[in-house]
Amino acid sequence: MRPTLTTRIGREEALSRKGMALVLDKNRRDVKRCGTAAREEDSVEVHDMPCRPDDNIPITMEPEVIEEIKGMAKDLGFDEARVLRTAEIVTARWVGLKCRYGCANYNTSWCCPPASPNLDATRELLSEYSLALLLLGRSNNKHFYRNSTEKRRRQIRQWKATIALERKLFLMGYYKAFGLPSDTCALCKKCSYPERCKFPNEKRPSVEACSIDVFQTVRRLGRLVELAGSVKDSYNSYSMILLV
Ligand code: SF4
Repeated sequence: MRPTLTTRIGREEALSRKGMALVLDKNRRDVKRCGTAAREEDSVEVHDMPCRPDDNIPITMEPEVIEEIKGMAKDLGFDEARVLRTAEIVTARWVGLKCRYGCANYNTSWCCPPASPNLDATRELLSEYSLALLLLGRSNNKHFYRNSTEKRRRQIRQWKATIALERKLFLMGYYKAFGLPSDTCALCKKCSYPERCKFPNEKRPSVEACSIDVFQTVRRLGRLVELAGSVKDSYNSYSMILLV
């Protein structure tokens, strides 16, 4: 099974009011109007639902496809992967504030603000997707604070893994797949910004640079998020791929 937001509904359920399409939530068996014309036939296929994603839209991916994608993520070095609804992704203005004040990467990289999509653009972008993939990579904190070469090596590995997975998903049929790797691009020791990017095929905005509140998003999924305070701690990096 390949990506689709197709939901089949029976004739009796398809007899909707004129001018309104019906989308059936298979899990809750309730019906929702989506503002497009429905055909009165034995079955109705609703492709690419034009309404804004919300919590009532079911994850329509087959479990075996989700497992296949998780396996691909593991093969590329991620410790965990999970599918989430884009409606569960939290965006906030404070994230951009942290980039603008207190981060040395601000205005120095193609993948960070102000070159990355701003809050409004990100919200608009998310409204064009229903599902995303959250990718988790675990690292040891001593690399973060004590070994910048090792930190950069890990950053590059995770950056390239996100883009490689985006490519694989595209080839699987997820033609809208778009990666938002964690941290910032470290492919060049010094980013050429504002001059032309040296590896434009691998240029993506980072997940934080798009004003995505990663902490709150992960907490919404029921996960505990703790800050790594000691060099002995390990820390998690979160990347995302917008899927369908
Ligand atoms: S590939 Fe190099 S020039 Fe392009 S965004 Fe990354 S660091 Fe900057």
